[in-house]
This record gives sequence, structure tokens and C-alpha cells, in this order.
Amino acid sequence: MLKKCSLSEELPVEEYLIEKEPYYVPVGNEIEIFMSAYRNKLPVNLKGPTGSGKTRFMEFMAYKLKRPLVTVACHEDLTATDLVGRFLIKGDSVEWSDGPLTKAVRHGAICYLDEVVEARKDTIVVIHPLTDDRRIMPIDKLGVILKAPSEFMLSISYNPGYQSVVKDLKQSTRQRFVAIDFDYPPAELEMKIVAHESGVNEEMARYLVDIGHRIRNFKQHGLEEGVSTRLLIYAGKLIKDGIDPKEACRIAMVRPITDNTDLQKSIDEIISTIM
Ligand code: ADP
Repeated sequence: MLKKCSLSEELPVEEYLIEKEPYYVPVGNEIEIFMSAYRNKLPVNLKGPTGSGKTRFMEFMAYKLKRPLVTVACHEDLTATDLVGRFLIKGDSVEWSDGPLTKAVRHGAICYLDEVVEARKDTIVVIHPLTDDRRIMPIDKLGVILKAPSEFMLSISYNPGYQSVVKDLKQSTRQRFVAIDFDYPPAELEMKIVAHESGVNEEMARYLVDIGHRIRNFKQHGLEEGVSTRLLIYAGKLIKDGIDPKEACRIAMVRPITDNTDLQKSIDEIISTIM
């Protein structure tokens, strides 16, 4: 069998470029911090609950920096090979195919490993050499070491709320990244975002944000994670589409976050008093 390594094969980089400016409302000085990290070639960890704007922020930054954004949604079956690449049989030959991380390194893109803690432990081995001064990526199967160009950046996201002994980022990994905290935006900003993204008017957005805040308070009463900005937007979209507001809140903001019927009932009551 013939072995073909298409090492110089050009990635259609345009595919990963973000052409239109993503809508992003800054919550603090995260844009300046990210810019500075990029200039200093520091890897970044976006820490925060799901649906709090981390992915949107990455899209916005990639657009601002005019770099392609290669996003990998990490999951428990994701291996180092999935990130680096593999030989694939094509007809009677074997061709090398770059994984997303290799593609990003080769082309000076931004690689965003979403929920990195979900990935298998061996993925960490490939990430580490890219996060220190060396900024290299050894590809054992090809017998090459790629040097990341200065445009390359590695960023990860991490939800501290899901932390468990089995799924936690080791200090040896954490301490390779600067960390930017994300949380649900303050009420006034979240209202603006919900209105923009769902199309409901400001008054309705205010109701949704108010309910969201009250639901988040239930965290002290056994709720695992508060309702995300993403879910407030979902509720808004259903309302905009003609679904009864109370019903929309229940199915977009209450049912997704808890299976506990007592909690559901208590939250439903709050919704009824507001809507
Ligand atoms: P995460 O990656 O943290 O899970 P996302 O970035 O997917 O969350 O955010 C969910 C949705 O919330 C986005 O699609 C966007 O509509 C909205 N959103 C959250 N925060 C912001 C923000 N600061 N500016 C604009 N939109 C936001």
C-alpha cells in the first residue's frame, strides 16, 4: 500500500473565517484581556457556566483578530488522535488527514476546545507542548514537530460548576492558561441581549430576565445550575413565535434545568406571579 502524506495540503482556511461581525455585548474588560493574551501568545481558559456567552465571545474575538476559528466540542470519546489526525485509507493508498488542532497550528488559526475537561486524558498530552514557550506540536505518527506560528492561539472553556473528582482540570494543566471568568451578564445587559437575539420587545425581555434571576436564586435550594442566557433567549423566541409566555417559560426555562417536580412547581408559581 502506498503511503501519501499530504503535508503541504492547504486547508480551506476561509471555511473557518468568520465573515460577519458576531453580535457580542462586552460584560467587562474581557476583550482587552483577550487581545493582550493573544499579543503575548498566552493560552486562555474561559471559565463559566454553560450558555453564558463563551462561544459567542470566541467567535467575536476570532472575527476581530481576523483569524480562522477552529472549534472542537470535546466529549468523552474524544482522543488525542481525533485532535492530531490519522492515516486514512483512500482507494489503494493511505493518506494523512490533519485533525482540527493540527489544522489550526499549521494555519495560525485560533483553536477553541470547548468543555475540554470532557475529553479523554490523552488529549492533554498534545495540548501541553503548545501551551508553553516552545509552542510545538509533535506528531509522532508523521515523525514531525510542528512549530506554531505566532498567529496561532489555543483557548479552552471550562465549567467550574460541573467539577467532580473524575472530571476536573489538573493544576498542571490549569496553570498553563490565563483564565477569564464568565457569568450571566448583569440584568440590563442580559435584557438587551435577550431582546436582540430573540426578537421580543424590551418589556418582555425584562420579564424574562427577572424570572431568570429568581430561578438562579433557587441554586441555594438544590438547583444544580441556574437558567442560562441561552435558555432565556429560547423562551423569547418561542414567545415571539406566538407561544403563550407562561408556557414558553416553563418549557424553555424550567423543564430543561430540573427534573425535580417540587422545584418545577415552585418555579412555575413564580412565573405565574410575574407573567
Ligand atoms: P457558552 O459557550 O458559554 O455555553 P454561548 O456563547 O453559546 O454560551 O451563549 C449562548 C447564547 O447567549 C449565545 O448564542 C448568544 O445568543 C447569547 N449571549 C450570551 N452572552 C452574550 C453576550 N455577552 N453578547 C451577546 N450574546 C450573548
